[in-house]
Amino acid sequence: MIKSINDYSFSGKKVLVRVDFNVPIDENLKITDDTRIISSLPTIEKILKDGGIPVLCSHLGRPKGKVNSKYSLKPVADYLASILNFTVHFAEDCIGEPAEDAVAKAKLGEIVLLENLRFHPEEEGNVKEFSESLASLTDVYVNDAFGSAHRAHASTEGVTKFFGENKFAGFLLLKELKYLGSAMENPQNPFVSIIGGAKISGKIDVIRKLLEKCDSILIGGGMTFTFLKAKGYNIGNSLLEEDRINLAKELLEEAKERKVNLILPSDIIIAKEFNNNSEYKIVPSDKIPDGWIGMDIGIAAQNEYFNIINNAKTVFWNGPMGVFEMTNFANGTLSIAKGMKESTGKGAVTIVGGGDSVAAINQLGFSKDVSHVSTGGGASLEFIEGKVLPGVKALEI
Ligand code: AMP
Repeated sequence: MIKSINDYSFSGKKVLVRVDFNVPIDENLKITDDTRIISSLPTIEKILKDGGIPVLCSHLGRPKGKVNSKYSLKPVADYLASILNFTVHFAEDCIGEPAEDAVAKAKLGEIVLLENLRFHPEEEGNVKEFSESLASLTDVYVNDAFGSAHRAHASTEGVTKFFGENKFAGFLLLKELKYLGSAMENPQNPFVSIIGGAKISGKIDVIRKLLEKCDSILIGGGMTFTFLKAKGYNIGNSLLEEDRINLAKELLEEAKERKVNLILPSDIIIAKEFNNNSEYKIVPSDKIPDGWIGMDIGIAAQNEYFNIINNAKTVFWNGPMGVFEMTNFANGTLSIAKGMKESTGKGAVTIVGGGDSVAAINQLGFSKDVSHVSTGGGASLEFIEGKVLPGVKALEI
């Protein structure tokens, strides 16, 4: 069993909260996307409302176990203080005297944010003594960092051993598990997945698992061309993973055996060069001429995918349909976002999981039109694959 923070009053408690504040920060120390901070607010606000002191900890970037001001969480502390009406005490180290002093100074209704956990190699090394030092700061532990739940690090796994039963899942973690869990455990049918992005290689296990669950899988993005090659088509200069052609054949075969509609785009938008100003045209997917590059799914495929999604009851999307960063090749991805919006409006559960599809849906302005946008790229894919997430397992009592 995993305890929800909803069933506990944090009154008078100091609470170590593992959040995911791994946000993009520009050279002027400005946070350019605050989604992850905003997503943690319900948990932080619940602890404050109960009369507890949230002691927030997170990683930021990859400082590789060394102090590096480029990866300091100080700008996040300033940002938090500016959007919440609460004092935020920033501790210049996540353990030892700076952390202990900040926690001691904080009064009820105030927040502590500890410096980047990954300034210590012991965080990723999941070292017991480091976990113990972190745990010694507070009475209770909450994990609200779904994006880090697939890693057994000190702050996600090791630390839980020092809290007995005083460990809880935060609202964001619970929301992620609810949406991804119900999609994989008891989805309403038709269950449709859309899988795109650059390569098949990182998504083999995801596709395999989805073949067990879905009615239809719609393929797009760069991986399309390895599938088309597997069918014996010419793909010009499109992205190809030569060493995955056989795997693509196997997946097509497996889909047939399982009676899953594994659908490849019927037409493709191709360009002479890999840039937005290039000449481009639409061709049937078995007619890509030599020298041309597949950039996006074609209009017939966009319409077909839109209609399938529109009639689905559960939708999971990972990976853009084309090179969406270039406006001329963003329409395939846009048609998926529009299909998901329609489908959500008709009561379907629609989930976007994984890094670039989240960037795409944000860029296209559709993130409020789906049921759930997962904050964890790698974690959401590992969850879909059916892997145990160490950060979640560690919360079990
Ligand atoms: P991923 O991280 O695997 O989801 O891949 C996302 C990337 O795939 C984005 O940067 C897209 O530009 C890229 N992508 C999508 N379609 C294509 C394509 N047809 N050719 C090359 N790259 C693509």
